[in-house]
Amino acid sequence: MKQKIWIRICLISAFICICCFFAWMFLRQKGTSQTTAQIIYQGDVIRTVDLSAVKKKESFTVGEPGNQNTIQISPDGIGIISADCRDQICVRQGIRSHGPEPIVCLPHRLSIRFTDPTPDGSVSDAAALDAVTGQ
Ligand SMILES: [Zn+2]
Repeated sequence: MKQKIWIRICLISAFICICCFFAWMFLRQKGTSQTTAQIIYQGDVIRTVDLSAVKKKESFTVGEPGNQNTIQISPDGIGIISADCRDQICVRQGIRSHGPEPIVCLPHRLSIRFTDPTPDGSVSDAAALDAVTGQ
């Protein structure tokens, strides 16, 4: 009799664990892992990266010598790893995967902006705010 109660407790515990696991998976999918990064160079969107889909490290260069930024995309996020601008502020902003503040290289007019697409495909508040300010 006592053994049956223990089996029941084990089964209920296992069931709760499985429920928690699925709830966690569901929340994780809806979370910040859905972030998209937009690379904007001289006013044009040159590339849009779905950061949740990045599996390997990749880097590429934007612009001509004297006006160049090397951007790295990895599962950890996106950032400018080297630039020939004088202030180097863009490089110091590091690798990021989300956030309301864009990564910006002012001298080269390059920015990396983060947007969170909502399930219905519309843009988030951060991007809507930019549309209002006209940036
Ligand atoms: Zn810079």
